Amino acid sequence: MTELYDAGRRDELAANLATVHDRIDRACAAAGRDPGDVTLIAVTKFFPASDVEHLAALGVRDVGENRDQEAGAKFADLPTDVRERLTVHFIGQLQSNKAAHVVRYADVVQSVDRPKIAAALDRAAAGAERTLDVLVQIDLSDATGRGGIAPEAARALAAQIADSATLRLRGVMAVAPLNADPAPAFERLAELAGAIRADHPQADWVSAGMSGDLEQAVAAGATHLRVGSAILGYRPGPR
Ligand SMILES: *Cc1c(COP(=O)(O)O)cnc(C)c1O
Repeated sequence: MTELYDAGRRDELAANLATVHDRIDRACAAAGRDPGDVTLIAVTKFFPASDVEHLAALGVRDVGENRDQEAGAKFADLPTDVRERLTVHFIGQLQSNKAAHVVRYADVVQSVDRPKIAAALDRAAAGAERTLDVLVQIDLSDATGRGGIAPEAARALAAQIADSATLRLRGVMAVAPLNADPAPAFERLAELAGAIRADHPQADWVSAGMSGDLEQAVAAGATHLRVGSAILGYRPGPR
């Protein structure tokens, strides 16, 4: 790519990022919350490592990816000094045979939704002699398909994670149901998060809210927002 293209892309990302921060600031003001308590995760799936570099230069510290192969290649391509400044969140559906690969590049796995995945990540992290921050992904749709464990099974999965040798339970994650008002779903998530936090006080992250519903997520107390298209632009393929 030419330098001109690159400067244009950087300016576009900077403008989009400013718009998103503005939305977060206004949502926090409306909810009486401190924007410093909300972490913005830029979801860079489908976009190249060069965009991750631009975002890092623009002050982004957290990035999210949902496809294992793509993510592994992307972070291997990043200069070490850029990679070291980033926290990489894996947010996609995960198969247990991919756990060892994910543990090579992810700092956080947000999409733990089955006992088998938790066990596989625990083994993989032990093999890599590291600890791993994880969230329990909860299905708020009552019609499985977008990933996540049923709400009534979430506390048991949280307990399994908390008892594991290498996984650190940090909280919960969810995607709002399609074609429905996100606000009641995020309220329900906040209740479940509170119940899990009562058992495990350190598990105080609530990852909720995307490009289309970050305001509702902030209003419901989200601590982490996963924003893709509002920062990076439209992407081909499924979300
Ligand atoms: C892609 C994705 C996002 C970001 O979605 P946008 O609507 O582009 O902001 C957030 N969370 C998960 C789990 C995703 O897969």
